Amino acid sequence: MNALEIKNLNVSIDGTAILKDFSLTIPKGEVHALMGPNGTGKSTLAKVIAGHEDYTVDSGEVLIDGENILGKEPDEISHAGLFLAFQYPLEVPGVSIANFIRAALQARLPEGEDINAVEYYKNLYAKMDALQMDRKFTSRSLNEGFSGGEKKRCEILQMSMLEPKYSIMDETDSGLDIDALRVVSEGVNLMRGPERGFLVITHYQRLLNYIVPDKVHVMYDGKIVETGDKELALKLEEKGYEWLAPAGAGA
Ligand code: ADP
Ligand code: MG
Repeated sequence: MNALEIKNLNVSIDGTAILKDFSLTIPKGEVHALMGPNGTGKSTLAKVIAGHEDYTVDSGEVLIDGENILGKEPDEISHAGLFLAFQYPLEVPGVSIANFIRAALQARLPEGEDINAVEYYKNLYAKMDALQMDRKFTSRSLNEGFSGGEKKRCEILQMSMLEPKYSIMDETDSGLDIDALRVVSEGVNLMRGPERGFLVITHYQRLLNYIVPDKVHVMYDGKIVETGDKELALKLEEKGYEWLAPAGAGA
């Protein structure tokens, strides 16, 4: 199937269940939003899919176009076509953005093959123009001393260069300012298309004014409790999450 499929995923940490029989399918070409109160496991889901080792996967499957990625190394998962954008991107002092992205692309080539530098920079500058980024940006160290908006811009540039089949953006709690919000949404909207799927994780309805999702899912206590269209996000903005709390979950 042409989709990012998460099937009956059960994940725990130190014996405590976090994801409880979690299932979600994002067909290629669609943008899905995942919302929900703090502590329900949204970031855990993103990290488990990306191959983070802190979590124990008790059962379930994660498939990219039919290929299982659970248990693979993060770089293999990236190679399989998944891009993860995190709330708190890492800083890599001394490594320029241009070299960081180049190394990521190089790592995907077969042994003995090299990136063509001329082609690489041509592509990089074309993507930067599309994102209205200043070229001086590429010589700066990755995320070092960046503003929130600059970090996001850098992340979106990485995403557009890696051309993933599926992207997961975890924007929860990041307190995105209006500049960062615009950067993320313009980046996603530029890359939206029939050949790509997105999962946008957000605590706030606000982001979804800019990235209009095909579907909105609400997560509560480790699983999806409600699915709707963009109107559902507006309803959440108005009513909060409590009305969706499963019995006994304690809102
Ligand atoms: P959300 O992103 O929806 O706010 P998280 O996935 O960050 O939720 O967290 C879900 C639950 O898992 C919380 O109860 C949190 O305390 C717990 N948790 C997440 N990561 C860890 C960790 N590395 N160690 C211990 N507990 C964790
Ligand atoms: Mg989170």
